[in-house]
Amino acid sequence: MMRSRSEDLFETAEKLLPGGVNSPVRAFRSVGGIPRFIDRASGSRIFDVDGREYIDYVGSWGPMILGHAHPQVQEAIRKAVERGTSYGAPTVQEIALAKTIIDAFPSIEKIRMVSSGTEAAMSAIRLARGYTGREKILKFEGCYHGHADSLLVKAGSGIATLGIPGSPGVPACLAELTITLPYNSTEAFRAALDRHGKELACVIVEPVAGNMGVVEPAPGFLETLRELTRQHGIVLIFDEVITGFRLAFGGFQNLCGIEPDLTCLGKIIGGGLPVGAFGGSQAIMDCLAPAGPVYQAGTLSGNPLAMAAGLATLEILGSRRDDYAALNHRTEELCNAIQRLFGAADIPLRINRAGSLFTLFFSDHDVVNYETASSSNADRYAVFFRGMLERGIYLAPSAFEAAFVSFAHSDEDLEKTLQACAETIETMKGG
Ligand code: PMP
Repeated sequence: MMRSRSEDLFETAEKLLPGGVNSPVRAFRSVGGIPRFIDRASGSRIFDVDGREYIDYVGSWGPMILGHAHPQVQEAIRKAVERGTSYGAPTVQEIALAKTIIDAFPSIEKIRMVSSGTEAAMSAIRLARGYTGREKILKFEGCYHGHADSLLVKAGSGIATLGIPGSPGVPACLAELTITLPYNSTEAFRAALDRHGKELACVIVEPVAGNMGVVEPAPGFLETLRELTRQHGIVLIFDEVITGFRLAFGGFQNLCGIEPDLTCLGKIIGGGLPVGAFGGSQAIMDCLAPAGPVYQAGTLSGNPLAMAAGLATLEILGSRRDDYAALNHRTEELCNAIQRLFGAADIPLRINRAGSLFTLFFSDHDVVNYETASSSNADRYAVFFRGMLERGIYLAPSAFEAAFVSFAHSDEDLEKTLQACAETIETMKGG
């Protein structure tokens, strides 16, 4: 059989880039096969260098909620590029994006732009440490907050995909400052705060987890985090890098009514360009340099192209804020139909869904934390993934990530997805 261009390119890439990629999950290691090299994207579709077309449920891991290459976003970027690409000085656009986000999040009074979600979470914990004068932090197993040293302990996303327990290169003395607990265990949290409450600078959490696959917070979990962190003078950080502007206009905090002290954002707020941000109360945020002593900086922070793409995306989402309900409902219907197909085939499957995010766990038990997520059948997911890919459906190349439905996915796209799913299930029966 003729080799594909993706195969040739991956062979070259492996000689030039570690593992052939610039971010681990892209390498398809846990699902098998070689990654598709993408040539272009439009709406719900991505097109690889071999001319194959896929209905895309990765959406660049979340940013593309409007679909790829949305004409208004493209136009905003084009207009921005004509005025230069980076100045390293203040711009009108960064103020406009800041104001849009602050208006959408009641808990955010001031915000700082950075260039990735990693930077947002890394800087937010430094700020929390500087503000409180404490050093320990607490995170939850299977939550991913980027790859800063302190946050790579029992993390989700690629760490979960590749089964890496921690990471070499993270100094033990730093990892020791990170306490990890099972997600959704209010009891474990209470016990940990009884013990460490006065030493903790911050508690960081994905209010809806997306990086061990989708896991919703159990009733009372986030409420308890809020109540006890307040009692102990601990900064509560919601990492809404995935959930921000995904589940509603604003964050999950707007839906659950719980206000964190700091919020991390990324992905959608950059409209597909490199952006992250963190924000919160004025009292905490003003500890950042140059207003305060906690240092944080970036040559490309507030980059005018990135601001333009983010602003255009949020303007469109703002005008369509009532459409989130329909998007979430369509995703629910898709999930219900997939669940029925697997039910009819007698293949155990649990689908966790939050808004337009969902994960298929090949499991016969509920998935509520990292332990239950990681005991789902990742090999079976790999078989399903490959079957779907062959049929033109591009899912996350990992059993522990979310699928992202966008406003650009049409009814026809969803029907094609179900058809591919039915065909793939036929090949999985008895397997
Ligand atoms: N936090 C969360 C919740 C994320 O999902 C991610 C990335 N998937 C990050 C932080 C890190 O963002 P980035 O990849 O832009 O550094």
